[in-house]
Amino acid sequence: MSGSLVIAGLGPGAESLVTPEVSAALAEATDIVGYGPYVARIPAREGLTLHATDNRQELERARHALAMAASGRRVVVVSSGDPGVFAMAAAVFEALEGMPGHHELDIRVLPGITAMLAASGRLGAPLGHDFCAINLSDNLKPFALVERRVRLAAEADFAMAFYNPRSMSRPDQFARVLDILLEACGPERLISFARAVSTPEERLETLPLGEARPEMADMRTLVLVGNAATRRVGRFVYTPRSAS
Ligand code: SAH
Repeated sequence: MSGSLVIAGLGPGAESLVTPEVSAALAEATDIVGYGPYVARIPAREGLTLHATDNRQELERARHALAMAASGRRVVVVSSGDPGVFAMAAAVFEALEGMPGHHELDIRVLPGITAMLAASGRLGAPLGHDFCAINLSDNLKPFALVERRVRLAAEADFAMAFYNPRSMSRPDQFARVLDILLEACGPERLISFARAVSTPEERLETLPLGEARPEMADMRTLVLVGNAATRRVGRFVYTPRSAS
């Protein structure tokens, strides 16, 4: 039997947002590898081994998955949302760089619905014009770079989607990001907090930047900041497709 490695996105949470090709890959897998809470979304069945790991061991997890695929297993590495967005796909390719004997393996990346798109759909169309996505975590980059990118994106008038806005280990950095935004965008700019989108705990809130508080975000929140033209219509938020 020849092994394979699929790197799959499970979407933001709801079963209905898992793509059919991801469901098919999961049904054929012999091994599932990923961060504990994501692996926990896969029901146990006979012939399937679940390998749940810590969220900081990405490269090690990727090497393990590649080695299992090379030994003939059908391995699926799972991420939430899309595997290419601040998730495992890049880690697998980074591991592959150091494993030249595995370059011919059957490897496929299956996209998923990323949090930013799940959130924007719920809110209306806040990403209707040019936008960017920034990971606010400083696990893998210095926080000075986060600050610089936020400032420049705001000055360029992009709408912005922020992943990993705030965690217990760095509660103050998001306050700093809000300060930078307030200075660059002013207090009337719309900001949305979309928490646990597509799950029973989903919560959405849109308010002017001047009223935003750091505690409104946690690690299950996707934060969206509009551009200068982003506005409300009824209960929705949208960004017109033409530049202001
Ligand atoms: N690969 C994932 C992102 C991983 S980073 C994706 O494409 O969505 C983890 C961050 O994603 C969280 O801190 C949060 O900002 C965001 N996120 C993931 N699922 C979410 C959801 N259901 N609702 C809101 N934000 C979510």
